[in-house]
Amino acid sequence: MEAISPPSFRRVLLKVSGEALMGSQRFGIDPTTLSALAEEIVSVYHLGVQIGIVIGGGNIFRGIQAAVQGIDKVVGDYMGMLATVINGLALQNAIEARGVPTRLQTAIAMAQIAEPFIRRRAIRHLEKGRIVIFAAGTGSPYFTTDTAAALRAIEIGAEIILKGTRVDGVYDADPEKVVAARRYERISSREVLEKGLKVMDLTAITLCQEHRLPILVFNINERGNLMRLMRGEPVATIVHHEG
Ligand code: UDP
Repeated sequence: MEAISPPSFRRVLLKVSGEALMGSQRFGIDPTTLSALAEEIVSVYHLGVQIGIVIGGGNIFRGIQAAVQGIDKVVGDYMGMLATVINGLALQNAIEARGVPTRLQTAIAMAQIAEPFIRRRAIRHLEKGRIVIFAAGTGSPYFTTDTAAALRAIEIGAEIILKGTRVDGVYDADPEKVVAARRYERISSREVLEKGLKVMDLTAITLCQEHRLPILVFNINERGNLMRLMRGEPVATIVHHEG
């Protein structure tokens, strides 16, 4: 089992779902929520932690899903990936407004607005003190931004994935539906897979397992949680890889 000492992270990969930008809206970006999130990311940055961010697109994508109905699955997936680029631009803007340099890298080339994803360049940016935002998922349909998070985390040599969700960890049942659902403080990826718990999709979990990359699952909607994680406070479930 890995020994995790949260306050001493050197490089992390933060997964921000599109929904984390919605606030109380049904879709889209809520400016107050976006600002608060950027503020927190900047606080962690000032601790000296190198931060890569994979941004999702659910907040925009689900808003256009009605329009997507009847559209080819692959085309819909590309629309989803483009949605993550919109969120990436918004997050980049909100972070830079706080004086922190960033780079946006996309898995689908769009030279006018972002750099293409180049692993070595991303690492160089991190070393130079820039926050790197990865958008457009993996660049391929049939994947999710959770898988993109696992992939980018491994590629940039992050020590951990900080997976922001709507709940404060991994439960044995859906806590939004089952009142008696029990929260795990620690759980192995093997158990996650055996029990079919919804932490990340299968591809993402398997990738993390293969590369022994731990995941901290935390509630990103509760302000201050990112800093609490850095202080080692128990506000997350850790998914580890035993054996
Ligand atoms: N997507 C994709 N390939 C990827 C990442 C994302 O095709 O590598 C598409 C997929 O349709 C997905 C959408 O983009 O539903 C938005 O991503 P996701 O649902 O993972 O965003 P989140 O739920 O984190 O906001």
